[in-house]
Amino acid sequence: MTAERTEIHIAFEALELLLKEIFIHNGVSCSTADILAANCAGCERDGAISHGIFRIPGYLASLKTGWVDGHAVAEVSSVSPSFIRIDARNGFAQAALAAAAKDIDTAVARTGIAVVATRNSHHFSALWPDVEPFARRGLLAITFVNGLANVVPHGGHTPVYGTNPVAFATPIAGADPLVVDQATSVMANGEVRLHALANRPLPPGTGVDRAGNPSTDPHQVLEGGALNTFGGYKGSSIALMVELMAGALTGGQLSFENDFGDCIGAQTPKAGQLLIVIDPDRGGNFGFSRRVALLCDRLREAGQERLPGKRRYESRLNASQLGIPILEEDLRYLETLADH
Ligand code: NDP
Repeated sequence: MTAERTEIHIAFEALELLLKEIFIHNGVSCSTADILAANCAGCERDGAISHGIFRIPGYLASLKTGWVDGHAVAEVSSVSPSFIRIDARNGFAQAALAAAAKDIDTAVARTGIAVVATRNSHHFSALWPDVEPFARRGLLAITFVNGLANVVPHGGHTPVYGTNPVAFATPIAGADPLVVDQATSVMANGEVRLHALANRPLPPGTGVDRAGNPSTDPHQVLEGGALNTFGGYKGSSIALMVELMAGALTGGQLSFENDFGDCIGAQTPKAGQLLIVIDPDRGGNFGFSRRVALLCDRLREAGQERLPGKRRYESRLNASQLGIPILEEDLRYLETLADH
């Protein structure tokens, strides 16, 4: 290993502050920079590296070309006691969701459920940060996001869907929440890009080239090719449902309607997000989180030791003790972006 590729460790708060400076220096309002920095540093800390600092150049390219508005102030409308519409006004999805926090709390307290439909938003991150906080407060949350068409439907040859992720979080009595967060493509696009950077072939079945032929070359998949949906026709139908929930129900764009126009180099897809937050106590279920704990115990007894979220929580614990691992050259690069 050369001196340049030395791995060092950085405290979460220090990385968060550096990222906030980068966002502000590149045209993001202070309040949105706070949200994006916490989100991106959280991904790096949790080992969700396909949505950590690796994404910073993409964020900046979208900001620099004017594709996304770093100063957007979302418009939040409660259109019924439980249905909240958000127009993110071409801003980042996480800032839009934060703007609706009070309305979500009010809807859940009054009716037991909040349905939050966000349009005109850019989601460029992992979804777990959008749902885990609700589960920490005893609530269930599920969210759907669509994106940019780079996934072919089952049996097809032309991309129609985004990698259309879904995330679900539930409280567990006496433990960290159970959080499932996954793309409906075989692999998230960020992972394919990490493979391309490392010139590492993809597992067979991950994607196709521009002619629609199976390919394990990440460069071919990224340059005109596309990914497959997971799980054959069943996964493809889940991608379809996500597309409709996130892209159509919300008034956002469908993935195939999305393009970067004149904003060459922009990377953040402009689409929609649907979030549903439920108070499980309304279910008459006699201690929902204890029922979840019972099921998780049974899963472990049945042989599934590794439940969703386990790897992230372990990374988080390690980072709290040792700091977040980062290459020294990456840290220096981030410092230049913050104009240090
Ligand atoms: P993974 O396939 O890595 O993981 C998906 C889920 O399965 C996670 O909850 C993970 O838990 C869990 N998991 C992984 N391995 C196992 C296992 N062996 N047994 C049981 N559970 C397991 O995620 P993806 O590659 O599909 O997605 C990566 C990220 O990309 C997600 O955060 C997603 O939100 C994001 N994404 C964002 C998009 C956007 O437009 N903003 C588009 C597509 C994806 P754990 O977290 O502990 O590893």
